[in-house]
Amino acid sequence: MDLTYERKNVYKEANKSDVDQMTSYAEGYKKFLDNGKTERETVAETIAIVKKAGYREYKLGEKISPGDKLYYNNRGKSLFLIKGGKADLEKNGIRILVAHVDSPRLDLKQVPLFEKSEIGYLKTHYYGGIKKYQWLTVPLALHGVIVKTDGTKVEICIGEKESDPIFYVTDLLPHLSQEQNEKKVATAFNPEKLNVMVGTVPLQDEDKDAVKKNILSILSKEYGICEEDFLSAEIEAVPALKARDVGFDRSLVASYGHDDRVCAYPEITATLETETEQTVMTILADKEEIGSEGNTGMQCRIIDDLIGCIANSYSVSAAVVRAASKCLSADVTAAFDPSYADVFEEKNVAYLGKGVAMNKFTGSRGKSGSNDASAEYIGYLRGIFKKDNVIWQTGELGRVDLGGGGTVAKYLANLNIDTVDLGVPVLSMHAPYELVSKADLYQAHKAFSAFVK
Ligand code: MN
Ligand code: MN
Repeated sequence: MDLTYERKNVYKEANKSDVDQMTSYAEGYKKFLDNGKTERETVAETIAIVKKAGYREYKLGEKISPGDKLYYNNRGKSLFLIKGGKADLEKNGIRILVAHVDSPRLDLKQVPLFEKSEIGYLKTHYYGGIKKYQWLTVPLALHGVIVKTDGTKVEICIGEKESDPIFYVTDLLPHLSQEQNEKKVATAFNPEKLNVMVGTVPLQDEDKDAVKKNILSILSKEYGICEEDFLSAEIEAVPALKARDVGFDRSLVASYGHDDRVCAYPEITATLETETEQTVMTILADKEEIGSEGNTGMQCRIIDDLIGCIANSYSVSAAVVRAASKCLSADVTAAFDPSYADVFEEKNVAYLGKGVAMNKFTGSRGKSGSNDASAEYIGYLRGIFKKDNVIWQTGELGRVDLGGGGTVAKYLANLNIDTVDLGVPVLSMHAPYELVSKADLYQAHKAFSAFVK
């Protein structure tokens, strides 16, 4: 036994075949990232993946039997995979993995289109915690749905194909930024200026709002929609960037929305690939970035209802099942950034390439708002990770009282389920293009696999 605790560098521990495995695993992840940039797209993509693995759709209230492989699609925005186990449900409970698939972005407002000095724009209201200036001069794609009064749904995805146009939010040129430069970063960027440019050509023979009318005529021809249809639309402007390897050694992946698809993907692969007697529930949640509210967020009672359905099917008490269940709240944490070392506490922060990171607690100002997992539960997890040679590390979001953040962990813990945060460390979290290590990604897959066994 080592007397001292040192984090392990995954690449130092790995042999050639381990590195090959991490590298090829990351290729699958990159495809997953590029195929689903919104919660709706990620849910649809995951359904396609699990259907191939023999999962079928579950309707609320149906009986669940050992051996069943089911998915419950909650409004196309959150997804629950349920694997009925043969193990004693009252004794072992359910193994729950939960990650979220919504990411920070610019949402279109409900009356988005306007024209100023013959330039057409879409107004946005940002979603989640963003540093506004990071979203300026970045190529943007528009993804989402427009629902018409007869219920028909028009799906939009413009800006991802090489031949597509992209969209754009301007920034001020440095030559004229003297006044802007004097302002505080927090207030220098007015969110009402996060308007997405969409065109400049006026409609012939129109005097007023000719550019806007030309854009509407294009939208009418291509999508069969009019301005009023935006009232019932959910359209998200996201970076029109593909996942790419980073570095001479290709050890990192840059992408939009690692938070939290970098945990969703290993959750899915661990669930599909692991042979287990346990009952497993794997959740892709929505609305985490805005507080897990609403009927697709983790504060929704649907989780309780589904656990109730499982317990009923096995003719056991839901309360007993919940008390015996265990959960990994799979969400990203901040990786130590040497360029900004002073915001971290170096003994307790997670490091890039040193494995999947556990945050015993999140929250802010004295752990406020955190579930603060128990020593007993972490001891149990240390045991199973050790057995399966999972390289993991402990992490803390930043220096005490500097800021902080929360995850869905507390909502699971509030149901009387042992829960702790375990996820991949990220650099530049919530930026349009975030960074993770392939080594940490693969250790997340190993950790989730060990957990559901
Ligand atoms: Mn997250
Ligand atoms: Mn986040």
